Amino acid sequence: MITLALSKGRIFDETLPLLAAAGIEVSEDPEKSRKLIIGTSRPDVRVVLVRASDVPTYVQYGGADLGVTGLDVLLEHGNQGLYQPLDLRIAACRLSVAVRADYDYASAVRQGSRIKVATKYVGLARDFFATKGVHVDLIKLYGSMELAPLTGLADAIVDLVSTGNTLKANQLFEVERIMDISARLVVNQAALKLKQAPIRRIIDAFASAIPSA
Ligand code: AMP
Repeated sequence: MITLALSKGRIFDETLPLLAAAGIEVSEDPEKSRKLIIGTSRPDVRVVLVRASDVPTYVQYGGADLGVTGLDVLLEHGNQGLYQPLDLRIAACRLSVAVRADYDYASAVRQGSRIKVATKYVGLARDFFATKGVHVDLIKLYGSMELAPLTGLADAIVDLVSTGNTLKANQLFEVERIMDISARLVVNQAALKLKQAPIRRIIDAFASAIPSA
């Protein structure tokens, strides 16, 4: 049995064409079912639905053989024990810094200054500001990051931006792009050895169906 970990929403939806290329069709729509384990058209392949931030953990500890996860989640998790064969180029977005219009970011990030940053990505934010020599007070949030500068909780946020509509709707401005993000295929290294042929076939089929840049 091959177990693939996916999260509901964008990653699930955008992985479907890649699965189709591997001859795998999921037998249920996760938006219409509460099932956490979904069968597929292939009796030897199943999908487990987990929180986006839990995909690397499932694959690392062998709860799943493979998974699809955002680079943001992967870097924040640390990729110990995970083989990363493919950039799937799906769920593309960027990790950026955003502030209120009345906040002078350029002056605030001068060497040696101190700023308050709210984010879900404390590790990535810490590394980014460290390279700039900026002291950063990090405030960990789990969602609705945009509220933090608006309520005075923080000077800036570090969050994913896709269309920019969420920032715009909350009168925030993207002042710096930290990195481009897309979803990656991750594979448990022990599973790759033990189930080499079927896992290789899935990797190759996914590789053939990656959207062009
Ligand atoms: P947008 O309004 O299109 O810029 O999207 C921004 C919102 O969607 C923010 O709340 C982000 O955290 C979230 N978001 C954007 N792209 C992604 C992605 N690829 N994966 C997960 N969340 C995302």
